Amino acid sequence: MTAPVVTIDTEYTGEHGVAACYLIEDGGRAAFVETNTVRAVPRLLGALAETGLTPEQVDLVLVTHAHLDHAGGAGELVRHLPNAVVMTHPKAAPHLIDPSRIRAGATEVYGEARFAELYGELVPIPAERVRSMADGEEVRLADRPLRFLHTRGHANHHLVVHDPLGDAVFTGDAFGIVYPYLQRNGTLAFPSTTPTDFDADAALASVDRIAALGTARVFPTHMAEQRDVAGIADALRRQLRVLGEAVDRADREGIDGDALDAFFGRLCAEVLDAELASHGFGDDPVARKLVALDAELNGQGLAFAVRKRRFKRG
Ligand SMILES: [Zn+2]
Repeated sequence: MTAPVVTIDTEYTGEHGVAACYLIEDGGRAAFVETNTVRAVPRLLGALAETGLTPEQVDLVLVTHAHLDHAGGAGELVRHLPNAVVMTHPKAAPHLIDPSRIRAGATEVYGEARFAELYGELVPIPAERVRSMADGEEVRLADRPLRFLHTRGHANHHLVVHDPLGDAVFTGDAFGIVYPYLQRNGTLAFPSTTPTDFDADAALASVDRIAALGTARVFPTHMAEQRDVAGIADALRRQLRVLGEAVDRADREGIDGDALDAFFGRLCAEVLDAELASHGFGDDPVARKLVALDAELNGQGLAFAVRKRRFKRG
């Protein structure tokens, strides 16, 4: 049986079709998957009201990882949901309880002004309302089992939510970015390699793990229901191999400093340009604008991966 899932476009960064939250209902109980930022909370509560559910009926808020376009609104959201428990990866949970380190990390990436504009305030979540989910652990939403799978690569505190009855996986950022606007000429998916713990091999393993679940559909946070699961997996594997090899090469060749940032800035722009061009979006300004920030952040994440590797070696 295919359960209805409400897709909520959060209009993250003021754009349509870039970041979603999902609302699952079963037996009069409800779960949100992802929260986006504080700015999205009124929208999430509005979507809940539209389905005829009350805040008291929401049992679960499932957060795939602690990045702010996924978890930034969780604290504010649960203030409105008296019965909801936030479920996330054990390594993400401490950061939802005390968001100060996430705040510091994000301001480093975005700068103070952009951070305030994008994310506003981060509301801490009382520890008793946060539950760490082990790999393979299952909960129930009414009678619907939901299974959590740890999926490193994009972030080392990332998990996905497998909904076997719904024949679906809620994939966060572990199964690529798949913008609806770009799906006109076949499946166009690309990996998110943003700072600070991208790992290409782990990302590839996670893609394989999600694909192996064999569901008919996936719900990436960026965004909306997708049914070409195999096509997305192929596109991600192909690009992740290229990006992983580039990280190895930059490390091996000792590329450093500004040259390292430039190397990956260029590479990520080229890789995404090639994807756009091969899907007929080469001259489409909307498409180019849509992926511009991703290209930039992906480049930063790969440069970070090289520096982290060197730091670990000492
Ligand atoms: Zn993320």
